[in-house]
Amino acid sequence: MKIENVVCPFCGCLCDDIVVEVEDNRITAVTKTCSVSRSFFLHAHTGPAHPTVDGQEVEWPEALDVTARILADSASPLIYGLSSTASEAQRKAIALADLLGASIDSTSSVCHGPTTIGIQNQGEPTCTLGEVKHRADLVVFWGCNPAEAHVRHFARYSVSARGKLTPQGRKDRTVVVVDVRPTRSSRTADVFLQPRPGCDYEVLTAMRALLKGETSDVAEVGGVSVAQLVDLLERMKSCRFGVIFFGMGVTQTGGKYLNIAELLALVAELNAYTRFTTMPMRGHGNVAGADCTLTWQTGYPFAINFARGYPQYNPGEFTAVDLLARQEADAALIIASDPVAHFPRRAAQWLSQIPTIVLDPEVNLTAREARVVLPTAVYGVSAAGTAYRMDNVPLPLKKIVDSPQPTDEQVLDWIIERVKT
Ligand code: SF4
Repeated sequence: MKIENVVCPFCGCLCDDIVVEVEDNRITAVTKTCSVSRSFFLHAHTGPAHPTVDGQEVEWPEALDVTARILADSASPLIYGLSSTASEAQRKAIALADLLGASIDSTSSVCHGPTTIGIQNQGEPTCTLGEVKHRADLVVFWGCNPAEAHVRHFARYSVSARGKLTPQGRKDRTVVVVDVRPTRSSRTADVFLQPRPGCDYEVLTAMRALLKGETSDVAEVGGVSVAQLVDLLERMKSCRFGVIFFGMGVTQTGGKYLNIAELLALVAELNAYTRFTTMPMRGHGNVAGADCTLTWQTGYPFAINFARGYPQYNPGEFTAVDLLARQEADAALIIASDPVAHFPRRAAQWLSQIPTIVLDPEVNLTAREARVVLPTAVYGVSAAGTAYRMDNVPLPLKKIVDSPQPTDEQVLDWIIERVKT
């Protein structure tokens, strides 16, 4: 059986034109896709068959009883992850956090959390990827490398995509890359600016000043010549539709959310000359959905705590890395992410010492250290659900094959029932 227009849930591009072939409930071929996605679909069957408690295989009721006991006995539980699960499951995770008086945080806090804070400060002049495809004649990539991290972004949405007002694709666009080192993306660019590491804020501030008609009495700012900045500004002012895509090279370097607020302010000010927009390059398939779901359920996008019976928001206090590094969380439920592999050592070490439950289709590093592992179906492969693309457009994920495993949503429902009783 050939299934067309499948959404790939792997990265924030959520490409929705994949063709998957299925035989005897197994995926046998994947076409119209990238190598990352092909490997994801072809190996999505290989997770563990049974839940485990302390490394021993057990039946589901026993694993769920132990899970509920750990969470109910905890004085300061943490629920973390959410970026590779469906929004239906994210909503259940929030309900569980509310019930437990827990902290809940998504992987946003270690990638585009500063973006969200920058947007809260400055507002967000943004658009959809469809508008970029059909209209953008100037595309800037700042602190990101989509040629390697979002493999089909160039072809589907930005650099070479053919749209209504860009019928010749690449020939109709000017592409600019701003990064601290040459990358595969910068090799495709018409213009490459290479600021010194940690100098994005200075460069952006200088651009805003030059845009306002100020003159500079220095020849370079943050490693970029003023002549290059003036040239880039002229291109920005004179384009028909511009967009800056930005990544963790700006959000997780010195300045963090201040870099983003400055970038957003520059984009807003460019709208005095032309239509100019910006968009974060979101990594995980539904990390944008985690922000959206948390926001419409609680009013806040990440770093939320329910200990007082209502949601409180404070990045730095209720973010997972900080709660773990300060040894404040005494139990953790990790949903569809691998913090032991990615967190700073102090936070990861504490996570290994407290009772941890993992909901994930795969046995990752965090699962290897967890007390309870609950294997679940893969959204977009063996479970249907909803995910939000990097431009916050929600897309339906298809169920392509059957799975013996329950979904994250079902498991969270079972945990909620047990915690209540
Ligand atoms: S670019 Fe991302 S969403 Fe698109 S097919 Fe590749 S991994 Fe999947």
